Amino acid sequence: MQYTFALVGNPNSGKTTLFNEITGSTQHVGNWPGVTVEKKEGKVKKHKENIKIIDLPGIYSLSPYSLEEVLARDYIVDQKPDVIINIVEGTNIERNLYLTTQLMEFGVPVIVALNMMDAVKTRGEEIDILQLEKSLNLPVVPTIATKGKGVNELIEKALVLAQTASAKTEEAPVKKFDELIEKSITQLENLVTKELTLDYNPRWVAVKLLEDDMDIKEKADISVNLNNEVIMCRERIQKGYNNDDVETVIADNRYKFISNVISKSVKKKSSRTLSTSDKIDKIVTNRILALPIFLAIMWVVYYVSISTLGDYTIGWVEWLIGDVIGGTISEWLVGAGAADWLHGLVIDGIIGGIGGVMVFVPQLMILFFFISLLEDSGYMARVAFIMDRIFRKFGLSGKSFIPMLIGTGCSVPGIMATRTIENEKDRRMTIILTPFIPCGAKWPVFAMFIAAFFADKAWIAPAIYIIGIGIAILSGLLLKSTVLKGEAAPFVMELPEYRLPKLKGTLIHMWDRGKAFMIKAGTIIFIASGVIWLLQSFDASFSMVEAENSMLASIGRVIAPIFSPLGFGEWRAAVATVTGLLAKEVVVATLGILHGIGEVAEDDPSLISSITQSFSTLSAFSFMIFTLIAAPCFAAIGAMKREFNSWKWTFLTLGYQTGLAWILGTLVFQIGSIIGLG
Ligand code: GDP
Ligand code: MG
Repeated sequence: MQYTFALVGNPNSGKTTLFNEITGSTQHVGNWPGVTVEKKEGKVKKHKENIKIIDLPGIYSLSPYSLEEVLARDYIVDQKPDVIINIVEGTNIERNLYLTTQLMEFGVPVIVALNMMDAVKTRGEEIDILQLEKSLNLPVVPTIATKGKGVNELIEKALVLAQTASAKTEEAPVKKFDELIEKSITQLENLVTKELTLDYNPRWVAVKLLEDDMDIKEKADISVNLNNEVIMCRERIQKGYNNDDVETVIADNRYKFISNVISKSVKKKSSRTLSTSDKIDKIVTNRILALPIFLAIMWVVYYVSISTLGDYTIGWVEWLIGDVIGGTISEWLVGAGAADWLHGLVIDGIIGGIGGVMVFVPQLMILFFFISLLEDSGYMARVAFIMDRIFRKFGLSGKSFIPMLIGTGCSVPGIMATRTIENEKDRRMTIILTPFIPCGAKWPVFAMFIAAFFADKAWIAPAIYIIGIGIAILSGLLLKSTVLKGEAAPFVMELPEYRLPKLKGTLIHMWDRGKAFMIKAGTIIFIASGVIWLLQSFDASFSMVEAENSMLASIGRVIAPIFSPLGFGEWRAAVATVTGLLAKEVVVATLGILHGIGEVAEDDPSLISSITQSFSTLSAFSFMIFTLIAAPCFAAIGAMKREFNSWKWTFLTLGYQTGLAWILGTLVFQIGSIIGLG
């Protein structure tokens, strides 16, 4: 007799170690037919029976969302191994058992190798094996793969399971789900049994149909009658659970089953620190409170860093750069007899441009400090988890939130982080949405307008952030229902325990983000400031003129009409929207230079108040909305192109973002004017 055992488990559960231990040197490594995922096969060493071991790819679940998961489940349902050896990491039992709850549905006998028992012991935890076997209704063998412990027993027990398999499958399955769901499963199972021509376990097919699994729908070629039944059952479940979607309800059910199993069989010694974390999570991730808490925290963060604390620092930096540095260099230039144009280039151009931006750096550093604090404490991981629940309703997974979170610093690493999303459509969507979250470079722009027009309005900085998230969610909804249709991939994530952040770590984290900003100030902003000053000081025949008659003004006037409906169809504002493509901070530098900070400085030392020349409060707001949503900077566009690997998608995205920005800016200004806010 020849037997085949399939080895299945989460990544890092010790699969390779166990596989090597079982097979010794008798293994072949190849690829799965048609794909480059590694396929390993081997024979159980020194065994009288002929037993083949197949090492399936490491996976977290068995839904059709990643190539590995599809491979694993296709193998199990089509090739029907005699036994599934499910390797479960004893130190991470909760997450690992999620896969187990799915494996036990195939109707193929499952044996659990409870691995890393040595680490379990060191942690002072105890696992009651007999109790675990009873609650899972599966044989469980404790192992230490690295020492080869328990491996022989595992193989022997698996063999017994294989030899008595037919008797085993007759047994009633473990009822893992709530009654309402079990009822639907039984109902569908009966229909499936009648119709199905494939050799699949009817209960498994029933669960998959309830989960609206497209893959199985196609494969099993289900009848109209059965399909209607599925739709009815899904509606019933949805109603029974306050309209939560069925996939979420089923996943919740699996976790409920798991925590029940664990509470009976796992004893944790160090339960004290854990329960503090758990207690915080009970509140912070609570279904109703989670979102208000998140919004409140973000409100405080943006309010404090942009509106209050940050506001104090503006005057300081203006004094430092304008009076101290600018004044000294100016005197020195005059003393050295520098030409007028050189004095203008250095003082009004470069120092004016960079200085205009630097004014907002302290605010940005405070913002980064708070965000680093939230990340280092473990709260941001919870946010991804909370967002998953919200995003899921829109067909997006919490995985999409992580790039957006990274995007609060800079969209470039945010866009690059989409690589962790396996599902191609979700990945594209996340690339499109990430720039909507205001990055660090956009904040100097907002901060400038806030200081100039909304200094007394506490809600405006947090509102910008929330509008960004809102636009991302609504766009996600729009894309999901049109060009990027598909299901949300499940999001399995381990929540780290809360930690008191170390000041040093948080400061380093903050500095890392702030550093990129300084580098930009020294390069792009420096050059752009010089070029903008030159363009606004000379006309086409290269004679020095008033800004109004300059080359830049002529260019600006060509594009300005585009922005008239948004309320800032003025050449200086138009130029700033375009120079913002270089880097968003350049918007500030541009507006600063074009409003002649140097000249205003005599009677009104504030750069900020000078922009009130070209904007009203209402057009300032529509300008902020435009900046928030329109195409990001060139660096981010480059990252988009790399990640899409397509110019077509890149241009479509830029068109969508800029078009949407134009429409929303117009709406803000036009509606605002009508209701008299202008
Ligand atoms: P895979 O990703 O599932 O193939 O996992 P690996 O076999 O590569 O193992 C992941 C890590 O866990 C490696 O560093 C192993 O040495 C370690 N490991 C595997 N089994 C055990 C075990 O029983 N006890 C301990 N302490 N470590 C183990
Ligand atoms: Mg491995």
